[in-house]
Formats: sequence, structure tokens, C-alpha cells
Amino acid sequence: MQFTRLRLTGFKSFVDPTELRIEPGLTGVVGPNGCGKSNLVEALRWVMGENSARSMRGSGMDDVIFAGTDRRPARNLAEVSLVVENPDRTLPGAFDDEDRLEITRRIERDQGSSYRINGRDVRAKDVQLLFADAATGAHSPAMVSQGRVGALISAKPRDRRAILEEAAGISGLHSRRREAEQK
Ligand code: ATP
Ligand code: MG
Repeated sequence: MQFTRLRLTGFKSFVDPTELRIEPGLTGVVGPNGCGKSNLVEALRWVMGENSARSMRGSGMDDVIFAGTDRRPARNLAEVSLVVENPDRTLPGAFDDEDRLEITRRIERDQGSSYRINGRDVRAKDVQLLFADAATGAHSPAMVSQGRVGALISAKPRDRRAILEEAAGISGLHSRRREAEQK
């Protein structure tokens, strides 16, 4: 699985449509304090199905929508799209025979989120399961946020285990097992 493109509109400080190409290899994002580096990483987590507004540094999920500035009015809609290449057809779920997936999450003020994969409406769960195994495999992404390093050091053993399991990709297996057991 390789992430190749991220598009944002109305997401946090990215009020105007913004597209980033993610080339193979290491990608760095540099810029002054407050320019939106963390917002970009949050956009990535958000489109992958993040449910916690707090981990998006907000009090409710609507806080990801551009809130306006002195010069520009607030928006009522935010949308993030992520293009993921799937040449080996290793992604789980109903889209496993597609070479390329475009995952889109959209939120409208007071209306909650909706998700699409390649233009088809899907459930949040479908997107979350698609990325549940994303930490497994050598070329896959694993998200470690700024505060996480300190948290890992000071965590209780049980919490530390949860963080390590997540990094190792085991938590993806857990959530797919839970999903399977419910069926
Ligand atoms: P640092 O180097 O300090 O970590 P950063 O580049 O990571 O900075 P971010 O935290 O990504 O910066 O961006 C913070 C900026 O995003 C702030 O100016 C904040 O006002 C703006 N911002 C966050 N949420 C919204 C929103 N909903 N609407 C408009 N602007 C927002
Ligand atoms: Mg930051």
C-alpha cells in the first residue's frame, strides 16, 4: 500500500483546495510554527477514519471545518481525499481488486461525516477496516504523533503494550477479528 496523493478542502487551516503528491521515499513537511504541518498529518488520520475529536485537537468533529479568520468567513464543509495505490491487491475489503483507491471523507456542519471509496458510498467501518492493517508490512505507514514518544515512556505497562501492538500492526488484526466475530 502506498499513499500517493492527499487533497484537502475546508479542512482546518487548508480552506482552499490543496493537493499534495506523496512520492516514494521519505517525505518531510517543513514550515514555521502554526503553518499547518500537524493539520496535514491530522487530515491523513481523519480520512482514514479517526473518530476522536480530541485527538484532532478539537472538542467536536465539526472543529475540523475551517472556522474562519479576520479576512475569510467560516466554511460549513470539509473534505479530504487520499489516493492509495494497491498494485499487489493486498488491501482488505470489497475494493481488493482495484489498483488504486481514492478514499474521501466529508463532513458538513451538524451533519456528521460521510465516506466514499472510488465514488461509492461506504460506511466509516469499511474505511477503518481498510486501514486497520496499515501498520503491517515494510512499506506501510504507521502513525506516531508528537506526544506519543513521551507517552510511551511514562505509560503504564498495559497502555504501553497497546501502543506497541498498534505500531506492530497487531491492533489491526484485533479489530478485524472483532468484526468477524460479530458476523
Ligand atoms: P508547529 O510547528 O507549532 O507544530 P504546525 O505547522 O504543526 O505548527 P498546525 O498546528 O498544523 O501548525 O496549525 C495550527 C494552525 O491551524 C493555527 O493557526 C490554527 O488557528 C489553525 N487552525 C486549526 N484548526 C482550524 C480551523 N478549524 N479553522 C481555521 N484554522 C484552524
Ligand atoms: Mg505541529
